[in-house]
Amino acid sequence: MDNGYGRLIQQAMINIRYKGGRVQEQDTAISTDDDPVVQLADGLMEQALTAGASDLHIESVADATRCRIRVDGQLILMDADIPVKLHNAIISRFKLMCGMDIAEHRIPQDGRTSFFFNGTRIDVRASVLPVFTGEKLVLRFFNAAVMLRDITELGFSETELETFRSICMSRKAVIISGPVNSGKTTTLYAVLKQMNDRKNCIVTIEDPVEYQLQGISQVQVNDKAGLTYASGLRACLRQDSDIIMVGEIRDEVTAGLVVRAALTGHSVYTTLHTGTSLEAVRRLMDMGVSMDNITATIGGVVAQRLVRRVCPHCRGPVDSGAREPRGIYSLGTVTEPDGCDMCAGTGYLGRLAIHEIMPMTAELRKALLDGLSESDLASLMVRMGIKSLWDDGIEKAEQGLTDIREVRRVLGYGPDQRRF
Ligand SMILES: [Zn+2]
Repeated sequence: MDNGYGRLIQQAMINIRYKGGRVQEQDTAISTDDDPVVQLADGLMEQALTAGASDLHIESVADATRCRIRVDGQLILMDADIPVKLHNAIISRFKLMCGMDIAEHRIPQDGRTSFFFNGTRIDVRASVLPVFTGEKLVLRFFNAAVMLRDITELGFSETELETFRSICMSRKAVIISGPVNSGKTTTLYAVLKQMNDRKNCIVTIEDPVEYQLQGISQVQVNDKAGLTYASGLRACLRQDSDIIMVGEIRDEVTAGLVVRAALTGHSVYTTLHTGTSLEAVRRLMDMGVSMDNITATIGGVVAQRLVRRVCPHCRGPVDSGAREPRGIYSLGTVTEPDGCDMCAGTGYLGRLAIHEIMPMTAELRKALLDGLSESDLASLMVRMGIKSLWDDGIEKAEQGLTDIREVRRVLGYGPDQRRF
């Protein structure tokens, strides 16, 4: 196809490189199509995937098309000089690829596709939003190799893993707590993978179904059609399921049904959009679940966050043992990361989870039922040997896996405000 843009596109393709320089070489392994717009679109996706991005954002800003990728939770500008004239062509290419209506520019649209990249299946969810300057497109990549971890690959220490396993085997409700993009789904999938054998009937209700799991019935929430978390869950309860995964408790009705499922002997795995494990308990109370039901049906709560991993290729020595007075830690802070080609100059490469695991022990159950104050509950949790997110972060910084600034950035607080 010659649309007159050939030379511009070629120039843009040469210019597409990840700022900081991890990816310098342009390669178009995804497609063999010789349409230059297709090649440009593929080039963008390939650069994004090579950089390990979870999302690719393409938007028109004033007189240019801006491409950014999210790597390890951070948005990074791609050094792609795409003339604004090409904006519509590129967006149309992605819309076509993801099964959207290319003639429709006035309303938001969703689409999806999948392909293989370096031997791994990548599922793509796309959305376009008509904004004033032109359509904005975001592609989200789901990488099976990243999504499907083993329970032993989640970053738990051996004792934590044992506690986590016992919570999961409790045949009660297990709640993973954390904000968006804190790896909750990865943890849930790892648990399901562990439980997935012929003896268990497993059903999931998800929005969206992020990755297809063999041998598990996965239900996609479809609010428009009336298939909500609540109606899906009700149907699961009638279907003789052993293990139910509910993507998220979003409302009172779902909260009530999760309790009912756990009370009737189902193992329920779910998530709450809350900070710590005690906050998850409070949120359930706000959703109208009584403390009696909370303590009777919850096997445990795991709060988690993702912190960036210090780049192993360029990290400096770990400053261990330098614990300052008043419990303010400086250890684990890596000497200023220089950054290298492998980490695109950021000093970080990949992410790992930090956890706070709260098993619902008899002691904790009693304390919650007795209505202990926040500070008393916190001291009880310390006595029980429960590590807060902060403590776990510090431990991983001490091991040189992440660093203190990163833990502080992700948690949004320091040692003086550490809390459950
Ligand atoms: Zn590096």
